[in-house]
Formats: sequence, C-alpha cells, structure tokens
Amino acid sequence: MPKVKKKSVAQKAREARQRGRIARADSQVVERERDRKAAADRIAREDPEYAQRERDRKAAADRKAREDPEYAQRERDRKAAADHKAREDPEYAQRERDRKAAAVRQAREDHEYAQREREKQASADRLARMDPEYAQQERQRKAIDMRSYRANPVVRTPEKKRDQECHRARREDPSFRTPEKLRDSAAKRSQRMKQSSSFEKLQNKFHVKIRSAPTFICSCCGGLWYKESTCIVTENILKDRGCDENLVSKLLHVNQEEHRLCGTCKKSAYAKRLPKLSLTNGLDFPEIPECLRVNKKLYQEYTILEL
Ligand SMILES: [Zn+2]
Repeated sequence: MPKVKKKSVAQKAREARQRGRIARADSQVVERERDRKAAADRIAREDPEYAQRERDRKAAADRKAREDPEYAQRERDRKAAADHKAREDPEYAQRERDRKAAAVRQAREDHEYAQREREKQASADRLARMDPEYAQQERQRKAIDMRSYRANPVVRTPEKKRDQECHRARREDPSFRTPEKLRDSAAKRSQRMKQSSSFEKLQNKFHVKIRSAPTFICSCCGGLWYKESTCIVTENILKDRGCDENLVSKLLHVNQEEHRLCGTCKKSAYAKRLPKLSLTNGLDFPEIPECLRVNKKLYQEYTILEL
C-alpha cells in the first residue's frame, strides 16, 4: 500500500480556495451569495451611523477619483450621455421642462414676495414713525450706527476726502457761498452767546458754593460741617455694620430728620466703637431749666429797643 503524504496547512488552504472558486462558478451559488450580501448591506444600512459612514466613504472616494482629470472628464461624458439619452424619452423631457418652469415660477414668486414684504415693512415703519417717541428712538439708533460706521478709518478717510472736494467745488459758486457765510456767522454768534450763558451759570454755581456754610450737624459729636464732609447714615446702615441697639442710639444722638456723621465719627462707628467726642460722653449741653429760658418775643423786643 503506497504511503499517503500528509497535507500541509498551506496545501489545505489552497484546496479550500480552489473548492470555493469552483463553487462560485456555479451560478446558483453566486446568486445566493449576492442575495446574502445585499440583505446584509440592507440591514447594515438601516443603522443610520453605518449609512452615514458609507455615504461619507463613497463621497470621499468620488472626490479622490475626480482629482484625476481623466476620470472627471469620463464622468462628465457619462453624465451628459445619460442626460442626452434620458431626454430622448419625451416623458422625461417633458418632466424636466416642467421642473425648470416650476423653479423659475418659484424664484419669481420669491422675488415678488420679497418685494411685497419690503413694501409692507416700509409702510409699517412709516406708520410707526408717526409716533414721535419711536421716531426719536430710531434717529438715535441710526446715529449710533452711523457713529460706529464712521469710527472705522477705512470708511471715514475716503469719505472725508470726498466731502472736502465736494464742498470746495460748491463754494466756488457764489450763490452757495453767500448764504453759507451768513449761516456760519449766525452759528458763531449763537455759540458765543451759549458760552457766555454757560459762564454765567458757572459764576452762579460758584456763588452758591461759597455761600454755603458748614451747617450740617454730625448726629454723634454735634459738630458743624460742610455737606461734603459728612455722610448720611440710618439705623439700618449702622446695624448692618454690626453696631448694637445701644451704640446706634448713642451714635444718632442729635435729634434731626436726616442723620449725618462726620468722617471721624463714621470711622469709629464702622469700627463698632463710640467716638471719643460723642455728645453722650458728657459733652452735650445740659437741659436749660425753665427759669433760665429766654422769652424769645421779649428778647426780640428788648433788642429792638436797645438798637
Ligand atoms: Zn462727628
């Protein structure tokens, strides 16, 4: 009996491939395999991610292929031929004509619609502008836009140059120049008037300022101060700063409508301390006994007699 040679792994694989080739040659097997692949692809495409990946892959492949000018030309030719062939079919040609006509109609409608919209908006704006407040707001908005637009030197420099040239040309015409001169001198006059009135305003302000005396009382030390040297305080402010009820009552000792504290007292108060010069430290005037109270009316009459 002849000795059977043992097959190697590579040999076995080769044989398997051979068998596969033979099997595929059988049209039935090929058919079955195609169906199976198509079904598998269909199932896979149901997954949107897979479908997207496949589309991307195809698009990338097409893009890459089109980089080859020959391929691109071939594709164009193929497409043109397909279109040409399709147009030979009267139904297809008719459909294409209809499609184009519809697109033109749509574009025209869009244009008309846009025009109508613009007109509607313009009439609404006109109506809204009848309201002076709206008109004012719109003017302000436009002014801001224009200011920011002109702040751009790329825009402003050529605009300035253009304006200057235009003005120069117009000024050579005396019928424009004469009223312009008159307008300028009137504007200068009014400017001067405004400046003088603003000087008067400043002068008045100065007089008011220097007339004001230190008449503001510190609620704690009873000192007289200029308004700027004091600040308004309330019970709540002091409590928020951590002062207790007792300290607050001592800090706001002077009975006045609007409590104020001088700088020194405020500093102590905010540090939750009673200022050394607080009137409650025995510095307040004692209550005047009834017997020593001056009869104001009598005093005035006496003074007048003395004079
Ligand atoms: Zn004070």
